Amino acid sequence: MEYDLVFRGGRVVDGSGLPSYVADVGIKNGKIAELGRIKGGGAKTIDVQGLAVAPGFIDHHTHMDAQLLWDPYGTSEPQHGITSVIAGNCGLTLAPVKNGDEDALVQSFVRVEAIPRFALEKGVPWGWHSFRDYLDKLEGCLGVNMGGLVGHIAVRQYVLGEESVERAANAREIQRMQQLVAESMEAGAFGFSTNRNERHMREDGKPVASRFADIEELLALCDPLGNLNAGVIQSTLGQYKFKNFELYEQLAQRTQRPIVGLVVVHRSARPEQWIEQLKATAAAFQKGYRTYRLCHTVPLVRYFTLKNGQAFDEFPTWKTLMFMDEAARKRAFADSETRRKLRADLADPRPTVFHRNWNIVRVEKVVQPANEKYVGKSVAEVAAMRGQDSLDAFLDLALEENLETTFWNANSGGDPQAMGEIMQSPYVLIGTSDAGAHVQYGTGFGYATTLLGLWVRGRKLLSLEKAVHKLTFEVASVYGIEGRGLVRPGYAADLAIFDPDSVDACEAEWANDYPSGTKRLIQRSVGMHYTVVNGRIICADGKLTGELPGQVLRGHAYRPEAGAAG
Ligand SMILES: [Zn+2]
Repeated sequence: MEYDLVFRGGRVVDGSGLPSYVADVGIKNGKIAELGRIKGGGAKTIDVQGLAVAPGFIDHHTHMDAQLLWDPYGTSEPQHGITSVIAGNCGLTLAPVKNGDEDALVQSFVRVEAIPRFALEKGVPWGWHSFRDYLDKLEGCLGVNMGGLVGHIAVRQYVLGEESVERAANAREIQRMQQLVAESMEAGAFGFSTNRNERHMREDGKPVASRFADIEELLALCDPLGNLNAGVIQSTLGQYKFKNFELYEQLAQRTQRPIVGLVVVHRSARPEQWIEQLKATAAAFQKGYRTYRLCHTVPLVRYFTLKNGQAFDEFPTWKTLMFMDEAARKRAFADSETRRKLRADLADPRPTVFHRNWNIVRVEKVVQPANEKYVGKSVAEVAAMRGQDSLDAFLDLALEENLETTFWNANSGGDPQAMGEIMQSPYVLIGTSDAGAHVQYGTGFGYATTLLGLWVRGRKLLSLEKAVHKLTFEVASVYGIEGRGLVRPGYAADLAIFDPDSVDACEAEWANDYPSGTKRLIQRSVGMHYTVVNGRIICADGKLTGELPGQVLRGHAYRPEAGAAG
């Protein structure tokens, strides 16, 4: 047989952004061997007419460092067409590590990334020291491909021990840390990650180690990337502040490496902020600095009723009412003097999480058939239909229905036009899955299938070609992942094969698949037919096949043997 595997008749969306076309894809030895009309046969041939054949998606913001040690697939990544993950974000890695320091690293993972301690204790088979040892531990045991960034927290702990969460480093310590970063880069790291988020603490309440680094230390630790001419600088900085942009520019100028910075998000409470962020980013690129941003594809949506809602807890009168028993609450909502206070609460100009915009609170579900006409309408629209003002319409509708009306609210990501502009920006990378983290609070596995289902098919904000480009070749290019991210001869046969007419993410669901049955959330998809890694199918119609073709990906500075820097 000429090929190991042939996918026949699919629509190739090749990752470049060029228009898609119908072609067969022939795979040999883990690589794409031929594209177009393939006359020869394959050991296995699969008819994929009507399906899109795209490069496998690259999830570049994960915390899969630990999970991959017990789950070679990083479940539920393959269910969403993801074939490569980058771990080691936000300053957090499991290497380098000294004997006895393991728990200090676990402390940060438990608190910052909300990975249950029990799972980490049972599931991480410690024993490595260097970043190279850690990567080698994973080699040959993977379903998906993985690449790693080396984390500031681990590097700092290695050199300063427990004093890493107490003080600044001296010149000698900084030099030793630089050496560790350089060694890790030569082991194949795709860059360096740091974390200055003022809310990020360890389990014992101490700030994470990287927060004690002054700017001088941070700049110094990025220097090895500049010197080796490789890698990205991934930086988690917490709340949006203008001075962060200056820091990004400084890092980019000094190293000439790409910066992967904080998320650009549309917040309903501050609806202009994303525009300001994109402008500042564009200005940095104009100067020649690659200071990329990230974005989410999944709107942060909450459903609530006035029986159980917490959306108004930051307003004192509302909060008092929500803690009353229901009969008293209903009387209060109906009382005109109380309404005056509720209105005054919302008019208070201090910043709040709730945006107070009735155009983006919608009626999701009603109880009474007569109110069906309001479903899907915003509260502002309902108010117009009823000839009332919005607050009265909101409360009266809920009262008519015994407080059982379900409302929809998006504090961020709820404005399609803003989301469209953010996602299409050439300066914004798609994918902030945080996969492997916050495992009992939510899931981001579905960011790619949500992009394809909600934003490409549903809202038609991006073309399929553009969306696939952003999920694949764009990421591979910024991170320097060579030979992946395109469907072209010679490229690795990492593929996501899906039905563009049905692909989507499902709601999260509970599973007990973490070590010793620890509970966590997983997410399935629809319309994702085959996920192929290095020429082998790892997931077919949502089911893992048991194949382990994943590789440890290594960056541009990789040297096969530990070099002089060690
Ligand atoms: Zn993160």
